[in-house]
Amino acid sequence: MKNIATSKQTAPKVGFVSLGCAKALVDSERILTQLRAEGYEFSGGYGEADVVVVNTCGFLDSAREESLSAIGEALSENGKVIVTGCMGATPELIRSKYPDVLAITGPQQYESVVNAVHKAIPPLHEPYIDLVPPQGVKLTPRHYAYLKISEGCNNRCSFCIIPKLRGDLVSRPAADVLGEAERLVASGVKELLVVSQDTSAYGIDVKYAASDWKGRQVRAKFYDLCEELGELGAWVRLHYVYPYPHVDEAVHLMAAGKILPYLDIPFQHASPNVLKNMRRPASSEKVLERIAKWREICPEITLRSTFIVGFPGETEEDFQFLLNWLKEAQLDRVGCFRYENVSDADSNALANHVPADIIEDRWNRFMQVQQEISAKRLKKKVGKTIPVLIDEVTPEGTRSSSEAVAHYKIIGRSSADAPDIDGVVHVTSKGRVLPGTIVNVKIEASDEYDLFGRVV
Ligand code: SF4
Repeated sequence: MKNIATSKQTAPKVGFVSLGCAKALVDSERILTQLRAEGYEFSGGYGEADVVVVNTCGFLDSAREESLSAIGEALSENGKVIVTGCMGATPELIRSKYPDVLAITGPQQYESVVNAVHKAIPPLHEPYIDLVPPQGVKLTPRHYAYLKISEGCNNRCSFCIIPKLRGDLVSRPAADVLGEAERLVASGVKELLVVSQDTSAYGIDVKYAASDWKGRQVRAKFYDLCEELGELGAWVRLHYVYPYPHVDEAVHLMAAGKILPYLDIPFQHASPNVLKNMRRPASSEKVLERIAKWREICPEITLRSTFIVGFPGETEEDFQFLLNWLKEAQLDRVGCFRYENVSDADSNALANHVPADIIEDRWNRFMQVQQEISAKRLKKKVGKTIPVLIDEVTPEGTRSSSEAVAHYKIIGRSSADAPDIDGVVHVTSKGRVLPGTIVNVKIEASDEYDLFGRVV
């Protein structure tokens, strides 16, 4: 994902390139909020900027390549470049390719990035604190926002270098998270997307310490936070949840309509051998039984997950196990990655790496199975009327020369669709609908990923 922030006003100008995941996007928003508070403005292009900040992603080698090329582009277009984010944890790699970057800071080092900007282009004498909206500067559309509840991770999955880059779990106090969520909702946000590396582990590091929220003590605990967020009047969507037993309690909140009936659980595999080699958290939980139980508690729950095929040591039997598991689990939304080595990941040293052509073949077989499941599950929604949050309304001219009525392409999402990673709902409407509103849509058709319907 690549976002370049823009602003119409004049002052010292910063160009900002934000790469990587939702968690990196939240980091970008914090840096931008701080800079905006100090009177900086944002430039939509490299040319007009006084300095460019590149927030990099280092999760996969392909993401590193993209980050390095973004740095190169910013250097050649502008010349004054500050690098931050996950790749900042390996400054020597960046320096060896681009010795001219002004400064390199690691993930979450907000102050260092801001200091580097001060050095490159000093702020105005009078900070324009009143120019910053209370909810901060957002890179997402106005009606949804990512809410980061913790940083880092206590797990040590063998294919992942996040703990090396971002350290162990550090949870934010519940009152801080709730304060931010409340400000976002007050500013017009309709959907809060809860993100972290391991959402269900929230608060373990601080022993669930309570903090004062509106005169009450709220614990930094997964369920307590979900319950409080559910009171704010916005959609609350949970990402990166592991199937620990206490997740069942949150499913009751979903059944009660307090938070969205949606769980994003990155299972990554199903075969016990592969899960063991992956060192996955909660892999010993009886997942199929848990899924059945969640559906019993909350029949309308949407389950999303990601998987990796071709992990070192994955045999044809392991892969078949995964396919059978997938058919039984009947997940609604699934992403699948082909295994690739990541520099510094422990899995690189595992035996029996799977050849690329077999990985490709397994990926295709996996996708075929899941597409059929997904299409079948979406078809069950045809005929139902469901709430849809409108994301985009784009004019598409008039329907015909005799009908001088503007035609709009309208895209929205239901409770089953997270932005960017899931499908969408294609909507038609006789009346006008606006982005950021929630409308009832009667579903008339479906395909492998999307739904189609009209506003009723
Ligand atoms: S849970 Fe595993 S994959 Fe996720 S951030 Fe932690 S170590 Fe990485």
